[in-house]
Amino acid sequence: MYLSTLFTKTSKDSTSDAHSKNADLLIKAGYITKTMAGVYSYLPLGLKVIRNIEHIVREEMDALGAQELLMSSMQNKEVWEQTDRWNDDIVDVWFKAPLHAGGEVGFGWSHEEPIGEMMKRYITSYKDLPIFVYQFQNKMRNELRAKSGVMRGREFIMKDMYSFCTNEEEHENFYQATIDAYLNVYKRIGVGDDTYVTFAAGGAFTEFSHEFQTICDAGEDIIYINQEKNIAINEEVLNDKTLESLDITREELEEVKTAETGNIFNFGTQKAEDLNLNYTDGDNKSIPVFIGSYGIGVSRLMGVLVEKYADDKGLAWPEAVAPFKVHIVPIAKEDEEAYSMAKDFYETLKEKGVTALFDDRVEMRVGQRLGDADLLGMPYRVVVSQKSLDAGGFEVQKRSEDDSKIMTSDELIKTLTS
Ligand code: ATP
Ligand code: MG
Repeated sequence: MYLSTLFTKTSKDSTSDAHSKNADLLIKAGYITKTMAGVYSYLPLGLKVIRNIEHIVREEMDALGAQELLMSSMQNKEVWEQTDRWNDDIVDVWFKAPLHAGGEVGFGWSHEEPIGEMMKRYITSYKDLPIFVYQFQNKMRNELRAKSGVMRGREFIMKDMYSFCTNEEEHENFYQATIDAYLNVYKRIGVGDDTYVTFAAGGAFTEFSHEFQTICDAGEDIIYINQEKNIAINEEVLNDKTLESLDITREELEEVKTAETGNIFNFGTQKAEDLNLNYTDGDNKSIPVFIGSYGIGVSRLMGVLVEKYADDKGLAWPEAVAPFKVHIVPIAKEDEEAYSMAKDFYETLKEKGVTALFDDRVEMRVGQRLGDADLLGMPYRVVVSQKSLDAGGFEVQKRSEDDSKIMTSDELIKTLTS
């Protein structure tokens, strides 16, 4: 892509979203724009990051045998009343609206009840099970505080998956496979080393639910970890009973600040009993379905990546999610050799399937163009000038490193395609 064709502009406005490093930088770099507190729109570069995260999540969910669908955002009051979760005293994040035709609708903050209700149409016999389904969906939550940029939105993008199984054993197999798939996701996205499967509250059927907590100063959670034993406990369940059941002492645990980037639940058969979602077994006996629920905060993960990798020069994306792998800056007039070398290089990358952003804004001040490259945060910056050609090629700098080096076009193409 030619940078001049991008309608978004970078800005130096330091009051973009003062509370939050991720929102501030993403707004300055033109990745997102703020609609109102806790509500953001994703612009072309930001959407590319979101799509890249989704692509990784999708591959891992598909590998589990889950099928993608897309549920409506508008939800039926009666469905939620069956579990008493329409009640604002029980669920405190609802957005609801009256209908002109009478009655009310809710805007989806979760899809657990609606999908259970929907499955009544498709689940009758044990032969229909198991079913695993997932979606990428904008959730709406009337969050009291929205101060962490895209890490806590009133509208945000979640991947939610649901499992419908005949019994606990079948459920447990899928649940464990999902934990592994989630760990693959975090690893591929670039936060694998900092993400812990964490014992947390909220298990409906089991004592604990499992959260995926990623170490991050801007996160809102506190967990206690022991790296050697690979144990992590949310502070909300840190008590004598938990410590004993996990065979660990408080002294062996280190306190860290984290962001909850995923969360998985075992509902047992409770949810199905409330919703009246049953199947018949081989003897024609009616049995409630075993349900699990599995979330990943897609937009929150984007925020966490900014918090973890950005520096005082700007954004810095891990390769797997960067909008473009390479940012090419020719410092030359359009009729000069350095410019045509840079353009040839760009064309070659295109042929080889390497994504690149080409800064064709040659009239602009060099300092500003290089500053933009730092702010936008692509993994490789390639400067092509008469000076670099005299030194033997292109000046290549990895965004994650301080030093640049000179490489020939061929060497660089090899590096970028290997
Ligand atoms: P939290 O404890 O942070 O409020 P939650 O436990 O309510 O989150 P879930 O309902 O389990 O979250 O949602 C699944 C995932 O969606 C979470 O693990 C988190 O990554 C993400 N998420 C939840 N709320 C938000 C939000 N307001 N903004 C962005 N992402 C969110
Ligand atoms: Mg939570």
